[in-house]
Amino acid sequence: MALLNENYLKLKAGYLFPEIGRRVKAFTEANPTAAARLIRCGIGDVTEPLPPAVIAALHRAVDEMGQRSTFRGYGPEQGYDFLRSAIAQNDYRAHGMDIADDEIFVSDGSKCDCGAILDILGDRNRIAISDPVYPVYVDTNVMVGHTGACDPSGAYAGLVYLPCTPSNGFIPEPPSEAVDVVYLCSPNNPTGAAATRPQLEAWVDYALRHKAILLFDAAYEAYITEPGVPHSIYEIPGARECAIEFRSFSKNGGFTGTRCAFTVVPKSLKAFSSTGEALPLHPLWSRRMTTKFNGVPYLVQRAAEALYSPEGKAQVRGLIEHYLGNAAVLVAGARAAGLTVYGGVNAPYIWVATPSGVTSWQAFDRILNDANVVITPGSGFGSKGEGYFRVSAFNSRANAEEVSRRLQLLKW
Ligand SMILES: *Cc1c(COP(=O)(O)O)cnc(C)c1O
Repeated sequence: MALLNENYLKLKAGYLFPEIGRRVKAFTEANPTAAARLIRCGIGDVTEPLPPAVIAALHRAVDEMGQRSTFRGYGPEQGYDFLRSAIAQNDYRAHGMDIADDEIFVSDGSKCDCGAILDILGDRNRIAISDPVYPVYVDTNVMVGHTGACDPSGAYAGLVYLPCTPSNGFIPEPPSEAVDVVYLCSPNNPTGAAATRPQLEAWVDYALRHKAILLFDAAYEAYITEPGVPHSIYEIPGARECAIEFRSFSKNGGFTGTRCAFTVVPKSLKAFSSTGEALPLHPLWSRRMTTKFNGVPYLVQRAAEALYSPEGKAQVRGLIEHYLGNAAVLVAGARAAGLTVYGGVNAPYIWVATPSGVTSWQAFDRILNDANVVITPGSGFGSKGEGYFRVSAFNSRANAEEVSRRLQLLKW
C-alpha cells in the first residue's frame, strides 16, 4: 500500500489563482460583451517581448547547438562559468559586494529555488514569514511538513507570521521571540514595499544574534528607483554570514517563460548540526544541485548573459521604465478615485486599501463586474492582506491608462 504525503492535504483548497480563474470564467460566460473589454491586472506575469539582445544571443546559441564543433550536451549543474561570472561581477562586485563566481548557482527559477532550499535546512526550525506574503514560501513549508493545520483565517500552526501593515510600511520588524529561518522579499510582492537600509540592518543583526538564516528574495531588485534602498542583502555588513539571496531574470529580462534565475549561497554562511557544530551550507546546496538538477539549457544561459551586455542593460532599463510608468499611471488613477495606495515606486505592484467595510473579495467582484478589470484580492496573500487588493503594472501602457480611467468611474 503506497502512502501519500499527507502534508499536501493540509494545503488550502481554494488556492488564490484558481479561485480568481473560476470567478473570471463565470463572469465572462455570463457577460460576453463585458468579457471583450476585460483587462487582466491579476497574475504577476510580464507582457512585453524579450529584449533584442536576448533574441540575438538565442539565435547565436541555436546555431552553435547545430554544429558538431560547438554543440553542448550536459553543462555544469551550477551554471556555466560565463554566466556565473557575469552575475557575480555585474550584480555584486561592481557594487562593492564581495561575492565569488562560485557562490552563484544558476537555476530555472526562483520559485523552484525558494522551495528547494528547504532540502538543505533541518526540519525543526522555527520559520517566520511575512503576512501578506508570496504564497510559495508558505506552501512549500506546508508540503515538507513544517506546519500543522490551517485555521479559518488561513494561518498554519507552527509558522511565525510577521504582520506587514501601514504602521511598519509593510516591512516586518524582527520578532521578540527567537526564530531560525526568516523569509524576506524586497521589493515586495504583493505590497510593492521596499526595505530601507536600517530595516535590513535590523534583520541582519537579529539573524547574527539568533544564529538564524535570512532567505532574501530580490526578484524585483531591478525595479528599485529610490536612492539608498539596498539592491541586495549583501550590501549589509554581516549578511555573508546569515543570508541566502534569490534573484531571477523573470521580472527584469522578461524571462517568465524562458526560465532562468540564480541563488547566492556565500561560503561563509553556516548552519548547525544537531550536535551544535557549525557547518557551511555551500557544499550542501552544491550537492543538492548536482544530484537533483541537471542545469539550465545552454541557450537560456547565453540569453541571460546577454542581459549584462551594454545593449542588454539598456533594454532591461527600457522594460523596467515601461512597467514603472504603468505603475505611476495606476497609482495616480487609484488616488484620483479616492483610494489609499501603496507601492508602485520600487516595484511593479500597487497595493490598494479597499474602501471602508469592503472586503478584498468584495472589491474583486465589484471591480470585475463594474470595471471589467481583474485584480488580485489581498486576502489571498494572508490574513493581513484582507482589506487590500493588488494591481499589477505588467501590461501595455494603453491598458494601464484604461484601468486607471475605469477605477475612477467606479462607484463603491
Ligand atoms: C515572480 C517572482 C519570483 C520569480 O520566480 P521565477 O520562478 O524565477 O519566475 C520570485 N519571487 C517572487 C516574490 C516573485 O513574485
